[in-house]
Amino acid sequence: MRADHDRAGVLVTGGAGFIGSHLAEALMERGSNVVVLDDLSTGRYRNVRHLLDDPHFKLVEGSVLDLDLVRELVAGVDEVYHLAAAVGVRLIVDRPLQSLITNIKGTENVLDAAHLHRKKILITSSSEVYGKSRNGPFKEDDDRILGSTRKLRWSYSTSKAVDEILAFTYYKELGLPTVITRLFNTVGPRQSGQYGMVLPRFIGQALRGDAITIYGDGTQSRVFTYVGDVVEALIRLMNTPEAEGEVFNVAGDQEITIADLARLVVAKVGSSSTLRYLPFEEVYGDGFEDTPRRTADTHKLEQVIGYRCKTSLEETVELLIKHARETR
Ligand code: UDP
Repeated sequence: MRADHDRAGVLVTGGAGFIGSHLAEALMERGSNVVVLDDLSTGRYRNVRHLLDDPHFKLVEGSVLDLDLVRELVAGVDEVYHLAAAVGVRLIVDRPLQSLITNIKGTENVLDAAHLHRKKILITSSSEVYGKSRNGPFKEDDDRILGSTRKLRWSYSTSKAVDEILAFTYYKELGLPTVITRLFNTVGPRQSGQYGMVLPRFIGQALRGDAITIYGDGTQSRVFTYVGDVVEALIRLMNTPEAEGEVFNVAGDQEITIADLARLVVAKVGSSSTLRYLPFEEVYGDGFEDTPRRTADTHKLEQVIGYRCKTSLEETVELLIKHARETR
């Protein structure tokens, strides 16, 4: 990478992943030197291949569990976006131990390195921390309602909560500048349906003319947020001093049930796909619990950075269908 002292050096852990690669691109467009650390487990080389020839971009294949490597990379940059994590309900349920270790130990390592070298750090947590409460839209300080520790799904929520507490205590006790963000069902090009994420799965099924698989009765709802909006919010938060030591929901405001999402996708594709309802137990095993409603109160985000995630769901779905058709 070219030594260029007027450019900010930024480390993006998980930068070859879906959200991370969009963030890396946006940071490059803003004139940063970007280093991506990714173990290419769920991240993909092809997500960043188009950036590799740029002298201001560097991909390091390695893990956030490698503390020496993390320390070395953090030493060379000005700020850190920590996105590397095990994500997706499918992955968490199938590989709970590895997921827990990646999410907790990985974050601890990145915070340790940021503290050692006194670098500002933004942590990406998840709306999953709110658990199964129906009381949305959730405010950042709302209570969390979780199921039993025996239900593997909630281990992800707990690991992300531990990450948040770690980041918060590094800020409070050690004075490390940290910003904590909770992402809500982010969607966009490059997202894979392989780990359970609903929208790429529905679009793939609709394009193939396969039945759309709705888990449960389809009345559960979510807010889907376009990745470009999420990335813009993350960069603004990193650059806003008042955001330090705080936690922010990062989301749009268009709630939709999963059954309506299926109908929207089928209509937009013009597909002959039928809707097929599958019990949760059949998909994720006995005793699985889903989150019935997940919507965000985003007043805090708007107040602190003056920004709203504004791309409509219709626009997002159209864009993703176009993208999926082009890359088939
Ligand atoms: N879902 C579905 N069909 C699928 C994949 C997911 O009906 O093929 C449901 C899933 O059970 C959940 C919602 O869609 O109620 C969102 O799932 P996702 O895994 O994308 O995100 P999360 O559960 O973390 O909100």
